Amino acid sequence: MNDCLFCKIIDGSIPTKKLYEDDICVAFNDSNPQAPTHFLVVPKKHLASAVEITDDDATMVGHIFAVISLLTQIFGISDGYRVVTNCGAKAGQSVQHLHFHVLAGKELGSFN
Ligand code: 5GP
Ligand code: ZN
Repeated sequence: MNDCLFCKIIDGSIPTKKLYEDDICVAFNDSNPQAPTHFLVVPKKHLASAVEITDDDATMVGHIFAVISLLTQIFGISDGYRVVTNCGAKAGQSVQHLHFHVLAGKELGSFN
């Protein structure tokens, strides 16, 4: 998608320091962090949001959660972190490329 911010970060046309990269996904720090640790894990495949995930994406989604587990262990936050994906404007999604927020380093509170 040539007008997609995260596709541009993935292809390097918007230079961004990557925390992690492989054939399936990249990770980079959120530019407006909501916690002391706040990074995004983003599939290289362009999907607008989680609502576009199908069974064909099972390997990709599983891999992303494995990468999240790896990175949280490397960054020393594996004892407490939150993974969030906002899906749709009503949920606060602002970038229309599937991404998973990983937040840690402060008391995050509980939902509900
Ligand atoms: P959403 O609101 O769609 O769930 O999350 C998008 C996230 O992308 C936001 O937390 C926002 O701070 C982050 N973001 C937006 N533009 C950029 C950018 O150019 N670089 C980085 N690293 N993060 C961005
Ligand atoms: Zn994209």
